[in-house]
Amino acid sequence: MNELKGYPLVQTTVIPLFGRNDLLKKGSIFVHFMKNYDIVIVGAGPVGCCIAERCATQLNWKVKLIDKRPHVAGNCYDRFHESGVMIHQYGPHYFRTNNQELLTYLTQFTEWLPGNYFVSSFSRNEYFPFPINLLTLAQFFKKEKLSPEEGKALLEEVREKIENPTNSEEFVLSRVGREMYEAFYLGYTLKQWDMHPRDLSPSVCGRIPVRFNEDCRYVDHAFQLTPKEGFTAMFTRMVTHPNIDVELGIEYNKSEHQAAVVVYTGPVDEYFDYRLGKLALAFIGV
Ligand SMILES: Cc1cc2nc3c(=O)[nH]c(=O)nc-3n(C[C@H](O)[C@H](O)[C@H](O)COP(=O)(O)OP(=O)(O)OC[C@H]3O[C@@H](n4cnc5c(N)ncnc54)[C@H](O)[C@@H]3O)c2cc1C
Repeated sequence: MNELKGYPLVQTTVIPLFGRNDLLKKGSIFVHFMKNYDIVIVGAGPVGCCIAERCATQLNWKVKLIDKRPHVAGNCYDRFHESGVMIHQYGPHYFRTNNQELLTYLTQFTEWLPGNYFVSSFSRNEYFPFPINLLTLAQFFKKEKLSPEEGKALLEEVREKIENPTNSEEFVLSRVGREMYEAFYLGYTLKQWDMHPRDLSPSVCGRIPVRFNEDCRYVDHAFQLTPKEGFTAMFTRMVTHPNIDVELGIEYNKSEHQAAVVVYTGPVDEYFDYRLGKLALAFIGV
């Protein structure tokens, strides 16, 4: 029987996605067993690195972690420019959570720097704090200063009375009115989601808070941090373990990487060869 890329072909196995060799049942499918690995993880982003670390340290599994990019950390990848400036190659990232247990887990691999985001929205030739808070409202409506009650009364005046919003546009109109919808949400949503707010569910823009205080932070999470030496350093430490082999610059190919356990962390539409088209996947950080 052929050998493929050094992995012997063996008969009589089917593949349970999260099983192990000892769980494999007899069958008639040919599977390429990974010689020395309990698990192959496709994608060395945050999810892949975390699964690798857990399998290696908690289950004592032999782990093969692959990524088609030449680095770990996935979209969180960062590196130092020769000037000493940290660059987040795929867009700026910081870490936020309300989960103390998660923070404690990650603290094994990094020290932290405070990492709040303060986002300004450029509209009408001015910068406004965003998400909308009392300072935004005062600046936008040219008021001296607003109390929480005055802020709420102002929004009650300008908002459109839409009983049951069916999409994000209606939701925002019913919350802050058309003027602020056009100033702050329309362009932002088109850029962020590449979709019109009319075509997004109310919950998408609904996740962006309107605050009746002067908190200008982007999100409210209890912990807002950035790894002291960067995300790449943190994830590199996470997967530096004798049980983990990392192979970078290698594309996953289903036929070549079947194993007792394969975890794929790449885009799901790509995995299924875009059989149902490209999924409108996106994220929102608020
Ligand atoms: C611009 C931007 C800003 C963001 N800001 C934040 C933020 O501030 N805070 C935050 O918490 N989140 C942020 N996110 C979201 C964050 O990046 C993701 O939640 C996180 O990266 C998801 O991790 P992941 O491991 O699932 O996927 P990814 O990071 O995408 O990693 C998946 C990896 O799988 C690899 N892969 C895919 N297909 C294959 C294949 N066929 N063969 C081999 N390898 C493959 C890819 O190369 C990639 O490295 C941001 C995202 C973007 C794009």
